[in-house]
Amino acid sequence: MKEQVSAYFDRAIQSRIQWLQDDFLTKHGVKFGLVRIDEIDAETGGNKWFKLKYNIAAADAQGLNTIVTFGGPFSNHIAATAAACRILGLKSIGVIRSEVNYDNPTLQKAKADGMQLHFVSKAAYANKYSEAFISDLKGQYGNFYWIPEGGDNEAGLKGCEEIWSHCKDLPVFDKNQALYFASAIGRGNTFAGLVNSCPFPNAIGLGFTGFKQGEEMVPILAQKIKSNIQWQVITSYHFGGFGRVNEPLIDFFKAFEKEHQVVLDYTYTAKMCYGIYDLIHNNKIEYGSTVVAFHTGGIQGNKGIEK
Ligand SMILES: *Cc1c(COP(=O)(O)O)cnc(C)c1O
Repeated sequence: MKEQVSAYFDRAIQSRIQWLQDDFLTKHGVKFGLVRIDEIDAETGGNKWFKLKYNIAAADAQGLNTIVTFGGPFSNHIAATAAACRILGLKSIGVIRSEVNYDNPTLQKAKADGMQLHFVSKAAYANKYSEAFISDLKGQYGNFYWIPEGGDNEAGLKGCEEIWSHCKDLPVFDKNQALYFASAIGRGNTFAGLVNSCPFPNAIGLGFTGFKQGEEMVPILAQKIKSNIQWQVITSYHFGGFGRVNEPLIDFFKAFEKEHQVVLDYTYTAKMCYGIYDLIHNNKIEYGSTVVAFHTGGIQGNKGIEK
């Protein structure tokens, strides 16, 4: 079934804030809510839906019905793009940084959604945006619209600047109240989009990098951010690196699910939420503060991690 691109992305979906309740938060006097943008769509929802919106609209406007995109073998962006293309009746090709025929639940689902997988070595992947590589792909697959890894382009950022407008029941905050908003950082468009469009002038944005050398994101974000909202990048909750987990993180993930009936993803939101609890524990997020953190989805990736 082919759904119109505009109809698919113009749905007036409003995400709820789920206010978490537990003894720890009560004791520390912190209001902590999760904005459930993951509920926008089971397959494409979370931040990836926002990043695809203007990219797929651009492909549609150019009359191109093949989408090429790029990612690692566990990529949420690959999964979301494949699903969106299936739903919208577009052809999709995923350039995957991996040995030939690597298989895991993410790639199986992408294939089931009709995505053709094009495996390349790490060395070739490093040059994936070069003219030579792109024209080689066009020789093989015909003309296409391509979206960089993670939806990390202008169109992706524009979509992320609409996230706040899809949130319902945003609380009213007075100027004397500390208000933080938080998101996980991958390539940075989600966090930059939230900072650029934050409706609360006194809020402070906290971006959590779940990988090593997270501080390298600061200049990249500074390029993307065009607002006066205060923001900082928090780099210490990487748990060994991108896609890595350890026992404290797994324990936190399980306890969080049990207590709040929310499934996080190990790569991004579990590390962010662990960080938020730890900052509260250390009084870096002070008594009386409110934190709204974005549940950006991506739980499909957990299948590759939960062994
Ligand atoms: C991709 C992803 C992110 C990172 O988004 P960026 O815009 O690349 O920073 C965060 N959370 C989840 C669940 C993701 O899948």
